[in-house]
Amino acid sequence: MDARRVTGIGMTSQRTRERLVARLREAGITDIRVLNAIRDVPRHLFVEEALASRAYDDTALPIGYGQTISQPFVVARMTQVLLEGQEPRKVLEVGTGSAYQAAVLANLTARVFSIERLRALHSRARRLMRELRLDNVRLRLGDGYEGWPGEAPFDGIMLTAAPLAIPELLTEQLTLGGRLVAPIGRDGNQKLMVCERTDQGLICRNVSRVSFVPMKRGLE
Ligand code: SAH
Repeated sequence: MDARRVTGIGMTSQRTRERLVARLREAGITDIRVLNAIRDVPRHLFVEEALASRAYDDTALPIGYGQTISQPFVVARMTQVLLEGQEPRKVLEVGTGSAYQAAVLANLTARVFSIERLRALHSRARRLMRELRLDNVRLRLGDGYEGWPGEAPFDGIMLTAAPLAIPELLTEQLTLGGRLVAPIGRDGNQKLMVCERTDQGLICRNVSRVSFVPMKRGLE
């Protein structure tokens, strides 16, 4: 890919990205690994070209098919919580969408696996990962409720679509001591839960309120 397209100019330049990083810092993101990853991932390539000038605003943006790329603060927060006190090497994401979250994770862990149920988004994400040469990201068209049994167990699992309860099959694909970060609950009224798998089962705490699209079943 054209290096200038990745580096960005004007509203997508390094200076614009630094402003976003400063904002995230003020909002409570303290993990330098996460801030660096947000600075390095060219978010303007994950949104439609017409929206590129807003790519480094701290807002969610449409990515087509009724889905959105999450607000950078939410991406940073969830990533920070997933990494807190540990260094997961193998992470599963459910809800590839634009693959922005997957790209951020790819900067922070050895291997990322991400599942998307919408064919069009999956295909677009695959092209982009190839263009950006993010070789440590593997994408799959599938139903995230089933996880990725062939690659389990994972040190970390992150859901970027909200189920009503933590899917059992995903819990089973987490290593002992592994962490799951997920929005849980009904549309527009969800809790961000952080859970650890122990030999006593899953132990969860509620981190904040969030708003994600619902996790749906089957493919489209
Ligand atoms: N992480 C994305 C944003 C997520 S939007 C990004 O960085 O851009 C939520 C995504 O989850 C949507 O693309 C939606 O199609 C997908 N999704 C919803 N239910 C799913 C399921 N059961 N399995 C896989 N993907 C799912």
